Amino acid sequence: MLVTMKEILDNANKENYAVAAPNVITELDTRAFIEAAEELKAPLILDYAYGMHPDTYFIGKICTILAKESNVPIAVNFDHGGDKKYILEAIRAGFTSVMVDRSALPFEDNIREVKEIVDLTHSLGVSVEAELGHVGQASNYGIDRNSALTSVEEAVEYVKRTNVDCLAVAIGTAHGAYPKGFKPEIDFKRLEEIKKTLPDLPLVLHGSSGTDLESLRKVC
Ligand SMILES: [Zn+2]
Repeated sequence: MLVTMKEILDNANKENYAVAAPNVITELDTRAFIEAAEELKAPLILDYAYGMHPDTYFIGKICTILAKESNVPIAVNFDHGGDKKYILEAIRAGFTSVMVDRSALPFEDNIREVKEIVDLTHSLGVSVEAELGHVGQASNYGIDRNSALTSVEEAVEYVKRTNVDCLAVAIGTAHGAYPKGFKPEIDFKRLEEIKKTLPDLPLVLHGSSGTDLESLRKVC
């Protein structure tokens, strides 16, 4: 069944479990992820990142049709959504959630742009994920790791002012493949503080693919 990320994550947050959000690129990998979720009887977030497929509308339609036919709850999220026009295109295609990534902007600009989209999407029943701090690239880990970890104080103000449904936090993970044998340095204490301060807000972890299982279990 097709649902929003908010529906899936509010329940996961309440019941204290994590939900996988694999990146989808084609119809075939989408089918494989859904099959796996059904086998595990687990909810699923299909994450499509803008630009991974030549036709956002088409891939959105494929994902939402397959999600509707599934017997587990599935959200279709427009990951790292770019300009407003692309976000609107995703909503037209049926995505039930959008990530408005303005994490590279200064704090006030991030808030302003995200809030504008939240006001629009909430009126359409679409949920919003945003990012505070900045999750960088694994290939540039030495510099990206410490440049923009999420501040607890800023997170509180950010959530209050934007009214986002879930928040991606920077706690030491990074996108893409880490160098071989490399283990990212996760700031568990920071995560704990954010969670303690915002207990009702589901948190999102980007850059988990290459992160070791032990760290992922601890994070969850
Ligand atoms: Zn990401």
